[in-house]
Amino acid sequence: MFTLPKLDYGYDLLVPYFSKEMLEVHYGKHHQAYVDKLNGVMESLPELQGKSVEYLISNLGEIPDKYRTAIRNFGGGHYNHSLFWKFISPNGGGVPSGKLAHAIDKKYGSFQLFKDEFTKQSLSLFGSGWVWLQPDLSIIASNNQDSPLNDGLASPIMGIDVWEHAYYLDYKYNRALYIEAWWQIVNWDEAEKVF
Ligand code: MN
Repeated sequence: MFTLPKLDYGYDLLVPYFSKEMLEVHYGKHHQAYVDKLNGVMESLPELQGKSVEYLISNLGEIPDKYRTAIRNFGGGHYNHSLFWKFISPNGGGVPSGKLAHAIDKKYGSFQLFKDEFTKQSLSLFGSGWVWLQPDLSIIASNNQDSPLNDGLASPIMGIDVWEHAYYLDYKYNRALYIEAWWQIVNWDEAEKVF
């Protein structure tokens, strides 16, 4: 059985960037729904019991046709959100330091240029999806609940959920305001650790 990962912070600790209500609904309702639906599908796949969610979405070819889309969407939703909660922190924001800061400067010219490019891709992604920073510092956009794992790539070191469900409570239709708020809580310590 898959379960929601524990948050490292209280529901009210990302205020004013993410309200308590927005975090509660996103984590406790949307993410929980992916977990519940994934567990529901897994009941029909006893031969895959015990496999990690990373394994399932990295090996969709092993999933019977009838269940593949469900595993891709619900497994992806569980995996992506589990990363997302680690990628933000009440102590986040600012700029990265150490080797990661140096590598970003080298690849993008400056942190600001990197931030501009990441923001541009997050704003321009059509419909629902995610934008990720990879360990090689490339920026990858994924539709729906896909992730770089679907394409056999490495797990991201940082990333943003740009589904409307991630921001409508606080920011209505305004994805740009949400993205700007999200930058204030990016967990660079976690990104540096994984990098
Ligand atoms: Mn979401």
